[in-house]
Amino acid sequence: MKDQYTQRISCPHCGHHIHVALDASDGDQDYYEDCAACCNPIHLNMHIDYAHNKLELHVDSDDEQIF
Ligand SMILES: [Zn+2]
Repeated sequence: MKDQYTQRISCPHCGHHIHVALDASDGDQDYYEDCAACCNPIHLNMHIDYAHNKLELHVDSDDEQIF
């Protein structure tokens, strides 16, 4: 299993496709990335499934954070 992944996701706010770099060597991660197109925060939740050597990425918009 390699440690570095680049995943293409689509922004939950505007649908813009962005690439995110994932580092699986640090274990599960939960962080925010700003969309390059609409500047809204995208909530990324990365879960590493060691049993199946899989990396799961959940993307959501955190709708309660409205500025
Ligand atoms: Zn966007």
